[in-house]
Amino acid sequence: MDTAGPVLQLVDSHCHLDFAQFDPDRDAVLARARAAGVLAHVVPATHRAGWSKLAGLCAAHSDLHPALGLHPMFLAEHAPEDLERLDDCIRSQRPVAIGECGLDLFVDGLDPAMQTRYFEGQLRLARLHDLPVIIHARRAVDQVISAVRRFDGIRGVVHSFSGSPQQARQLWDLGLHIGIGGPVTYDRAQRLRRLVAELPIGQLLLETDAPDQPGSAHRGARNEPAYLTDICAVIAELRSEDPIALAAQTTRNASRLFGLTLD
Ligand SMILES: [Zn+2]
Repeated sequence: MDTAGPVLQLVDSHCHLDFAQFDPDRDAVLARARAAGVLAHVVPATHRAGWSKLAGLCAAHSDLHPALGLHPMFLAEHAPEDLERLDDCIRSQRPVAIGECGLDLFVDGLDPAMQTRYFEGQLRLARLHDLPVIIHARRAVDQVISAVRRFDGIRGVVHSFSGSPQQARQLWDLGLHIGIGGPVTYDRAQRLRRLVAELPIGQLLLETDAPDQPGSAHRGARNEPAYLTDICAVIAELRSEDPIALAAQTTRNASRLFGLTLD
């Protein structure tokens, strides 16, 4: 008889399982994630040179789903023709989303005008291919909101949201999802915790952003998708909801947004 109790059914809507930090033990990381109830992982790309490794990994594991894009923190790696190559690769590989794209006004030396050019180029491709976008917005939520408003009909997620309640409301009024991960597990994240308690459930996605942004139980360590259960537990408590129901609803949200078929 199975005495383990019901397992959560989760989707990690944002993790970088293609990163070199997982090269030594990726299969073990995936096994732990599956045992924890993570049914699917959305793995966003960062720069053109990484697209083929990502495609190979996703072809080898049916629970890994690629997003293709040009990450703002990798600006130095991008060239203008990468947007055309991205268009080609979207046609040939049919990723579940475009990303990771967006704006980072926190890190020094990332030219905002260049970032905007790549971001808008990817929003254009998202409309052309009718795909959702995975958006990185650090100290740049207002700028992301105005860029999205310039392009009608964009759908997607602002991952690892760290803005104000007013900004969150503008995003969900635009129909965008909000990705919440490890930072919510820290007691000091009071503003984020209050926001998460009030978010419309239909627009909430869970994510780890592994190997980055470990939660409080794994501070300083490499993050991994199995730790999504901690994030689910904290958010369920903040919202006074059953973790199993929260997992099921956020899994439905992710499946619908990214067109995932889960088995
Ligand atoms: Zn990321």
